[in-house]
Amino acid sequence: MNLATSLARLGTETAFEVLARAKALEAEGREIIHLQIGEPDFDTPAHVVEAGIRALRDGHTHYCPAPGLPVLREACAEYLSQSRGLPIDPARVLVTPGAKPFLFFGVLATCNPGDEVIYPDPGFPIYESVIRWSGAIPVPLPLTEERGFTFTADDVAERLTPRTKLIILNSPANPTGGVTPRELNAELAVVLADHDCLILSDEVYSEMVYDGDHDSIASHGDLLERTILLDGFSKTFAMTGWRLGYAVVPAPLVEPLTRLFVNCHSCTPPATQLAGVAALTGPMDEVRSMLAEFRERRRVVVDGLNALPGVSCVEPAGAFYAFPSIVGTGLSARELQERLLDEAGVALLAGTAFGERGEGYLRVSYANSQDNIRAALAAMGDLLARASA
Ligand code: PLP
Repeated sequence: MNLATSLARLGTETAFEVLARAKALEAEGREIIHLQIGEPDFDTPAHVVEAGIRALRDGHTHYCPAPGLPVLREACAEYLSQSRGLPIDPARVLVTPGAKPFLFFGVLATCNPGDEVIYPDPGFPIYESVIRWSGAIPVPLPLTEERGFTFTADDVAERLTPRTKLIILNSPANPTGGVTPRELNAELAVVLADHDCLILSDEVYSEMVYDGDHDSIASHGDLLERTILLDGFSKTFAMTGWRLGYAVVPAPLVEPLTRLFVNCHSCTPPATQLAGVAALTGPMDEVRSMLAEFRERRRVVVDGLNALPGVSCVEPAGAFYAFPSIVGTGLSARELQERLLDEAGVALLAGTAFGERGEGYLRVSYANSQDNIRAALAAMGDLLARASA
């Protein structure tokens, strides 16, 4: 079939491919431990589920405003004002089905072919995919293990050119678990003050910082005025399947982004949005207990990985991913990913699923029980012992 040539530039998210392969193996009777997918294994808090059901029963089953229900936009503005220490105007808050559409529409609304976009490598694969698809030029910003998987303000300064249109930042980060400290954001804000590019700050893991508080680049200087600050419900409230995300955007982007929504999905399901209101305005104790459990699992996974032959793992500062180096195993990331699934029944991702600089690493999602994590580590140990024998 004669398909659009632009499709050749569109990438994907390998996590969904590995999930499909793991499910196929399970259908053949194999037992697989899932450490590949980035979704909390906890249930959505009960009061949020109830709010969604109530909304459906109350008849919230029709189209609603494309930018989002006013009540949710206000709740998001209030939450962002509190959590980021910024005065957020609800009129600049937009709501979408998941946070992901802001990556897609954010790039499409701002970048022309030939514009340069700086983005983290290794990083969430959709960044590079959408940059390429838009015709813009991807400019990777290396995140290195030696620096706790962050970068320096100089690294960004070296990559800024008159053609830099957008910088994508992600803290806490997928796949590395790296966190950008406040001091680094302050230094970066100084660098960016002399350049009028836009910023897309992906903060979907903002509630998952193990030490200290989350810091947003938008809280430095006047950067809120040119930042698309996006957050979502998937990770914080274990709501991946509900599809609900939001962002505060620069005022001139409100109308064009809304027009893109109208062209694509029309609106975000209203019952889902009312569940989101319950999440943001209700008790946060389940969010806190999820983080406490992730902290325990982080210890199990980091200690366990460091005990494996040829593997070393720095402690991730946020999110629920470990990004161990596997250089000492002598295997490529992709080969180890495949052998772990086929021979050890452990599904996880090669670092290369997140960019070229992911070679030599695996991404381990510890959104699984401690027992399953321990079983996976034991199976990995057996495989690595066999591989080096
Ligand atoms: N941004 C990052 C860094 C992610 O890891 C993910 C999901 O894995 C998303 C955005 C998308 O999240 P959502 O489910 O809200 O679309």
